[in-house]
Amino acid sequence: MSLGYEDTPLLPGGKWTVHDSRRPQPPVVVPGTESSQAAPGKPPSDAVILFDGTSLDGWKNKDGGPAQWKLGGGTMEVVPKTGDIWSKQQFGDCQLHVEWRAPAELKGQSQGRGNSGVFIMGRYEIQVLDCHENPTYPDGTTAAIYGQYPPYVNACRKPGEWHVYDIVWVAPRFDGSRLVSPAFLTVFHNGVLVQYHRTLQGPTQHKRLAGYAPHESAGPLRLQDHGDLVAYRNIWYRPLDYYEMLG
Ligand code: MG
Repeated sequence: MSLGYEDTPLLPGGKWTVHDSRRPQPPVVVPGTESSQAAPGKPPSDAVILFDGTSLDGWKNKDGGPAQWKLGGGTMEVVPKTGDIWSKQQFGDCQLHVEWRAPAELKGQSQGRGNSGVFIMGRYEIQVLDCHENPTYPDGTTAAIYGQYPPYVNACRKPGEWHVYDIVWVAPRFDGSRLVSPAFLTVFHNGVLVQYHRTLQGPTQHKRLAGYAPHESAGPLRLQDHGDLVAYRNIWYRPLDYYEMLG
């Protein structure tokens, strides 16, 4: 028995007909579960795990040595002055899931409260900051694409509560020294859309305009030590190929 139809018109592109049963079936993925404040959820079955709460083995410091952050209770926490950490995994286009928590105890204001950062490919920062009743410059607020785009809304939870970033990353493409297509970023903060298909101007800069310089097609995830006791849990990604997905 055919699952579809053979006597239907060709779709634009000329490859498949409407309801074509010969079209490839989508691969099966077992979905994960939602996180709660008490416990992280389970990643989907095809996720690559970067941090599951049990080990820092997948991470290194800037010199390639062991990550010096504090592991415990299913989380890893910044140890100030030990520096940023980088995932050993390198990847390009992806769906990325990161959970983080700023300290419950209020300390500092503006950029000085619960500051960290999620740097995709080690270069492109989505700001991590406690902006619950803590204003700062808008392109440096929570879930900002730092120095380029404020989020559409401030979806912060209270200090001490877990936040979730769900990110869709499209890496820039280079042909030699030429930029062929820029990076694109979509971000959900605690389930709220805060950045949609933003066109990045280049890698993150502080107090300067960004601009592209060619780099590899894959890179590590980098988490920032900004001196505040920010914790992370449940970090994973699913590799994608945006231009293949466009069909
Ligand atoms: Mg930061």
